[in-house]
Amino acid sequence: MSGKRPCKPTVKRALVCVILLAMPVRSAAPSHPPRQAQGSRLPDNARVRAALDWFTPNISWVNDQQVRITEIPAPPFQEELRAAAVKESLAEAGLTAQIDKTGNVIGELRGVNEKEIVAIAAHLDTVFPPGTDVKVHREGSRMAAPGISDNGTGVAALLALARAVQFAHVKPQRTILFVGDVGEEGEGNLRGMRAIVDTYRGKLKAVVVLDGSGTDHVTTKALASRRLEALITGPGGHSWSDFGMPNPINALVRGSVRFINTKVPASPRTTFNIGQIEGGTSVNSVPHEARLKVDIRSESEDELTRLESALRECVAAGVRDEMDSARDRSKGKLEWKVELLGSRPGGEMAADSPLLAALRAADEVVGNQSRIERSSTDANIPLSLGIDAISIGAGGSGGGAHSLQEWYDSAGREAGLKRVLLTILGISGVAEEKSR
Ligand SMILES: [Zn+2]
Repeated sequence: MSGKRPCKPTVKRALVCVILLAMPVRSAAPSHPPRQAQGSRLPDNARVRAALDWFTPNISWVNDQQVRITEIPAPPFQEELRAAAVKESLAEAGLTAQIDKTGNVIGELRGVNEKEIVAIAAHLDTVFPPGTDVKVHREGSRMAAPGISDNGTGVAALLALARAVQFAHVKPQRTILFVGDVGEEGEGNLRGMRAIVDTYRGKLKAVVVLDGSGTDHVTTKALASRRLEALITGPGGHSWSDFGMPNPINALVRGSVRFINTKVPASPRTTFNIGQIEGGTSVNSVPHEARLKVDIRSESEDELTRLESALRECVAAGVRDEMDSARDRSKGKLEWKVELLGSRPGGEMAADSPLLAALRAADEVVGNQSRIERSSTDANIPLSLGIDAISIGAGGSGGGAHSLQEWYDSAGREAGLKRVLLTILGISGVAEEKSR
């Protein structure tokens, strides 16, 4: 697939050319008209073309970066080593790079208009605990290791994009931040992206999130989710001599059975998952505690709230059932609580947003088509606050995310990288060449 396809005089193509022309005008504030030469589209700009042309001869460099980054462990809440390596790479590319107090790496490419910012972000963290073997096994264009695709692909792309724009001396209209953010997975609860949006709010006009591989989708709708933990405690005792005392695991099981019988609607799609259950010390002890973790997701915040209430009611009922059937209540009673471990807000980007137009225009150039999706990603945070944001793959193909069998195949990744570059430059705008 070529990044230099000319605008053919078909109606559809002509429309896209118009969008490409119009986009920087619409995306820049009215007081800052675009410096981009009129009558040209992004790939016609010599510097943009040079940046696009950087990828193909440097693909093995990009693949090597992906291996290097993936082999630096980044368990939840322990992203420091990987962050330091990414900061160094962004600095080597020529960006002003720093690590903020949350642990995010931020590389800045100053635009003509410093009052407006677009961010391109790839999460640094993995789901894998410390000690996981993250050695990458390579065979041709295929690589295998935990975290290789999610998000080795996104981080490698971030470094490649920084190199390409600096190599080509691209000067954007709006300032571009290259961000390696922490805490995307699980209980990280999007803390890195929350901090970025908090710091740059007011200036932040668009966020492009790179998560995993692929070129086929664009997430413009944020799936709302909550993660909850139920804890039931009791006095605990001996399985024989204290038989009949209320048992927290029994109560948890009773409550769980009630909960999994909760009816959820097919539309708006709503799901729940008991993902972890633990408790007890030995087979011949009445346990003193039991806990379970539940993930609930919905296209509707109202359904989420309803489901969270259902979980609380079911746990309370499980405890009540267990207390009612306990033979010996003199030995103490059960306590329970349900805590919110994390919450990802929902949101949706308008179908006529300049950011989606930028992606569509980029797709047209690389000969791609994107399917719109709803998903739970770093983009949830800006989307929930009304800031334009998308989450896309960074090219190539992959599978087995969050498993030890995770893999990535770099075949065709150039198209994905060009798509990302054109999208980000489409929304930032590009200064005319003489302003170098
Ligand atoms: Zn990811």
